[in-house]
Amino acid sequence: MFSHLSEADQKIERLNALKQAGRALEPCPEKYGTMVEKVLKYFDAFYASLPGMPGYTTGTVDGIKKLRIGEAKSLELLLDLLADEMDKVGIHSASGRHMGYIPGGGLFTSALGDFIAAATNRYVGVAYSSPGAVAVENQIIRWLISLVGYGDDAHGNLTSGGSIANLIAVKTARDHHGINSGNVRKSVIYVTAHTHHCLHKAFNITGLHEAIIRFVPMNDRFEMNAEALREEIIRDKQQGLHPFFVAATAGTTDTGAIDPLDCIANICHDHHVWFHVDAAYGGFFMLVDALKEKFKGIERSDSVVLDPHKTLFIPYGSGVVLLRDKENLLTSFSHRASYMKDAYGMDEIDPADTGPELSRHFRGMRIWLPLHIHGIAPFKANLEEKIWLARYFYEGVKAMGLETGPSPALSVVIFRVPEEADNRLTQALVERLHGDGRVFLSSTTVMGKLWIRCAVVHFRTHVEEIDMALQMIREQFQLAISN
Ligand SMILES: *Cc1c(COP(=O)(O)O)cnc(C)c1O
Repeated sequence: MFSHLSEADQKIERLNALKQAGRALEPCPEKYGTMVEKVLKYFDAFYASLPGMPGYTTGTVDGIKKLRIGEAKSLELLLDLLADEMDKVGIHSASGRHMGYIPGGGLFTSALGDFIAAATNRYVGVAYSSPGAVAVENQIIRWLISLVGYGDDAHGNLTSGGSIANLIAVKTARDHHGINSGNVRKSVIYVTAHTHHCLHKAFNITGLHEAIIRFVPMNDRFEMNAEALREEIIRDKQQGLHPFFVAATAGTTDTGAIDPLDCIANICHDHHVWFHVDAAYGGFFMLVDALKEKFKGIERSDSVVLDPHKTLFIPYGSGVVLLRDKENLLTSFSHRASYMKDAYGMDEIDPADTGPELSRHFRGMRIWLPLHIHGIAPFKANLEEKIWLARYFYEGVKAMGLETGPSPALSVVIFRVPEEADNRLTQALVERLHGDGRVFLSSTTVMGKLWIRCAVVHFRTHVEEIDMALQMIREQFQLAISN
C-alpha cells in the first residue's frame, strides 16, 4: 500500500498515523472541562446520598463482567457503572456510620490533592527532579517530627500505609543492630498479643521470623507489662541472647490501649534495645493537648509509625514512618545507581533514600493540601470529639447490660453479650448487626473471647451516628437474646 512512497516517507506516514491514533490520550482543554463536570456530577450524587448511607451493605457485585477491560467506553457510562457496581455493596468507608476496624473517612480536599499530584505528575523520588514536590513532602515529615517531639536529626518517609511504615522501621532497626543470618536465632524481639499483625509480616519480610519473638504479658487494660518486659530482657541477656527490638503500641487496634511508653523508653535505654512505637491509629491524638500526656516517652523512641489515613482522615494510601536518627534510615535505604548520576546534591533529603520505593505517587500533596486549607484546628476538634463520643458510647452499651472491656483509652470500645462461656450469642449479635448494617461494627478476639468493636474515628461520625449505633445495638441485642 505504501509501495509508491520511499522508505523514509513510509516511516513518516506510519508515524503520523500512530500519532493520530494515540491522540485520544490527550483530551483537548474543552474536553477535560466537561470530563471534570461529569465527575463532579457523580460526586454530587455520591455526597447527596451520604446522610442516608448505611455503614455496611451485604451482598456481592453482580456486574463484575461489566468491569472487564475491553473497548473504549464513555466516561458517563463508566461513572454509572461505578455507581451501580462499586458504590452499593460493602463497607461504606465514606459514611460516618463506618465504625469498624479503624476508619478515617477520606477528606475531599485530600482527593483534590491527589488530583493535582496526578495531573501535574511531579516526580518525587529525588529532589533535583522536583525540589518543590520534595519540599512539600519533607515539610509534612518535619511537622510530624515536631508533633512526636524528635529533634533535628530525625527524618522519615511517607508510605502507602502503616504496614510499609512498620516494615521500614523494622528493617532499619535490624540493620542498626547488625542482625544477620549468623546471629538471628539468638536475637530477641518483644511484642504483645495486641501488636498489629503487620509487624509480624515485617519480621517475615526481613528474615526476623527466625529471631526469638517474645509475647510480653499485658495488664487488665491490655497494656504491655513493663516490669515483665524488663525481667525478660534481663533473663534473655543472662542466657547469652541479644534483645534488640521492642514493638510498643500507642493505641492498639483491638482496644486502643497505649503501652507505658515512658517506662519502656527507660528499659530500652538501659539495655540498648531499639524502641519502636506503632502509633498508626493513636498517634494523631497527640494533637489534642489534653491527651499529649498519655504519649509521654514517645519522643525517646527510635522509630514511630503514624497513619494519616486513619486519624488524620486522609483517604486510604497514607502512612508515615519517623526515625529519631536519620542516619540509620539512610544507611538502610540509600543507594546510588549508575543511571541516577544526574541526581545532583540538593538540600532536601531524597525520598528514594528513605524507603524501598524509587518512583512513586506524589503522596505528600494529599496531606499538605488539607492541612493548609483547613489549618490544624478542625483536626484537633474532630479528634477530641471522637474521644468524648467513645466515652458516651461506652456508657451507652454498659447501660444496656452488655459486658464492656476497659473504659476507652482513646476511641475504641469493645463489648459482648455478658456471662457467656462460649461466643454463641455474641457471634449471633455480630451477624445481626452486619445484616442490619445501619452502622458498621467489626469484631475481634481478646483473651480467647469474641468481642464487638466500635472504633469512633471517622470525621463524619458525630453524636447522631453514635445514637444510631446504640439504637441498632439495643434492638438487635433484644432480638438476639429473645431467640
Ligand atoms: C492499621 C494499623 C496498622 C496497619 O496499617 P495499614 O495502614 O493498614 O497498613 C498497624 N498498626 C496499627 C496499630 C494499626 O491500627
